[in-house]
Amino acid sequence: MESAATRLAQVEANIARMCKPARRERQDVTLIAVSKTHPAERIAPLLEAGHRVFGENRVQEAQDKWPQLRDRFGDAQLHLIGQLQSNKAEDAVALFDCIHSLDRASLLKALAKAMDKAGKRVPCFVQVNIGDEAQKGGCPISELPEFLDKVRAADIPLAGLMCMPPAGIEPAPFFAFLAKLARDNAVQGLSMGMSGDYETAVQLGATHVRVGTALFGARG
Ligand SMILES: *Cc1c(COP(=O)(O)O)cnc(C)c1O
Repeated sequence: MESAATRLAQVEANIARMCKPARRERQDVTLIAVSKTHPAERIAPLLEAGHRVFGENRVQEAQDKWPQLRDRFGDAQLHLIGQLQSNKAEDAVALFDCIHSLDRASLLKALAKAMDKAGKRVPCFVQVNIGDEAQKGGCPISELPEFLDKVRAADIPLAGLMCMPPAGIEPAPFFAFLAKLARDNAVQGLSMGMSGDYETAVQLGATHVRVGTALFGARG
């Protein structure tokens, strides 16, 4: 099996390769290594190889794994990429450097309150239900402008828009649509692209790609 450092170098090279034709700078794309389900001893090699930005999708799991890793790698940055329940907002604000799943008014309220209490502003991506799928989280497209106004009014730093396109079909049109929504609403960041499609996402303007399997192998 390839080492974590080898896989990291491959993904890094792929991102750099896709930046060129899109006339983008490598530094304008943040690679988030999605370490969900993987134990701390699988994560440490990537930290040792110099990688610093990681993603987890569950607050409890991150609380169990990351304090010990942060003791060793104090400058590691942790992004919450999964759905967040309002009653976990305080824990999320305490632990994470960025949240990618802000998608409804009740969560907005809980996060604003938690940030006020903690005296800390955590940048948030607004997740958009880009494929209009009933079972998926994300702000409905028709409600996005109004929701972005609410985020701005609550003084939550807006990191950008995030999406998870429908499974099993070509993701490029959804990435392009998210980029258009960002332009139309004067939003800068774009969190889009996973192991199977991060190269396409970089071509279409992703500022943050969330890559798990291509770095860690399959989840058990
Ligand atoms: C698990 C997950 C990823 C990473 O998926 P891979 O296919 O393993 O790269 C990205 N984004 C979100 C929201 C996820 O839950």
